[in-house]
This record gives sequence, C-alpha cells and structure tokens, in this order.
Amino acid sequence: MDLDTNAAVVVLSGGQDSTICLAWAQRRFARVAAITFDYGQRHRVELGAAHAVAAAAQVMEHKVLRVSSLAELGGNALTSDEAVTNELREKDGLPNTFVPGRNLVFMTLAAAWAYQIGAAELVTGVCQTDFSGYPDCRAATMAALQTALREGMAAPFTIHTPLMDLSKAESVHLAQEVDAMELLAYSHTCYNGAIPPCGTCPACELRAKGFAEAGVADPLLERLGQD
Ligand SMILES: [Zn+2]
Repeated sequence: MDLDTNAAVVVLSGGQDSTICLAWAQRRFARVAAITFDYGQRHRVELGAAHAVAAAAQVMEHKVLRVSSLAELGGNALTSDEAVTNELREKDGLPNTFVPGRNLVFMTLAAAWAYQIGAAELVTGVCQTDFSGYPDCRAATMAALQTALREGMAAPFTIHTPLMDLSKAESVHLAQEVDAMELLAYSHTCYNGAIPPCGTCPACELRAKGFAEAGVADPLLERLGQD
C-alpha cells in the first residue's frame, strides 16, 4: 500500500502538547488532518478545545471518533468521577490519570484512518519526560507500535513524536518556533476541566512551570484575561 509521505494525521486532544504538534506538522507536511478521540473523558471542554484548535489551524479535515470502550473498562480518574490526585497508586506506581492502553488504541485508530486517506505520517504529542511516567508515552512503546502498524497494515507509516525528549520549557520554545502560540490560546490542559484553568492540578502546574521556565506568557491565560 502506497501512502503519501507528505500527508500527516495528528492526534489532537486539544491539550498543549498535541496543539504544538499540529503546528509542527503543518510546517513540515503539505496535507495535515487531525483526529480527536471522544473516549468518555469527563471534561467535555477538552473536545471543545480540540474543535477550536483544529478550526483555527484550518486543518484539511478534523475527525472526532467515539471510543467508548476505555470508559467502560473504568479504573482511572479521567473517565470516571474519581478525584485526580498527585499521589501514585500502590498497584502500579502510576497516577490515577493513567488510562491503560489509551495511546495504543488511539495510534492504531489514527493509523487506520491515515490508511483510508492515504497519509503515511502519524504525529503524536507523547513525551517521556512528563512527570507522570505513562508507559505508553515512551519512545520504546512508539517504536514497537510503528513496527506493528507497518506490519499489520502493510503500509509505510512513520510515527513522529516531536516532544518526546523535550522539557515543558523546551516545548514552549518549539511552540514559538513553529508559530503555535496563537493556537495555544485555544488549547486546554486542566485535569479539573476548569476554564479559566484551576492552576493547582498536576496538569495546570506542569503547564505553568513550562511557560515560567521558558519566560513566556501562556497565551491561554492572556486570552482569558482579555475576554
Ligand atoms: Zn487544573
């Protein structure tokens, strides 16, 4: 199966990292589409952010795909009423925001769509330097998955992870390089789904720390301040 190496599918959650990746992809590839997964995340505001970012970026196509099975399996704070905590669970040493298998499923579905629209390039904002230590965000996982996708669909997919080894401050600098700042004004990060962001959850803290270390104002906060 021949696929266009100048066409990309970006996994867009509406968060900071995937938004930077979308801008990165648009500078690198001629055709860029975005896919967003509605997996029963309790904060619907995330999906709204993905729509706003995709619209502002004028992507070729934005697909929102429902994946309800992850929420049906339960056991995490992102698809249930369980409170998000900073503590690590005893059973696996991971935060309760870890959704087992999520990125494996998402990348497989992104590749399945990319196959349909003839795109060889897959882009994801996973980052192994994140505080959370999610095993499905590691380079080794993505390398293995790329092999599986190539084999399983007999197609020349490449998984790009532009943020994999960047600190949050470095990813803010990358955002400036690829002109992502305007898009970032529509991105959403808060684990508590608050607008304006709560500022105290792990996701808010990480985002604020990144912008502070980069010495750059967060365009989301600037936009809300102006509203
Ligand atoms: Zn928050």
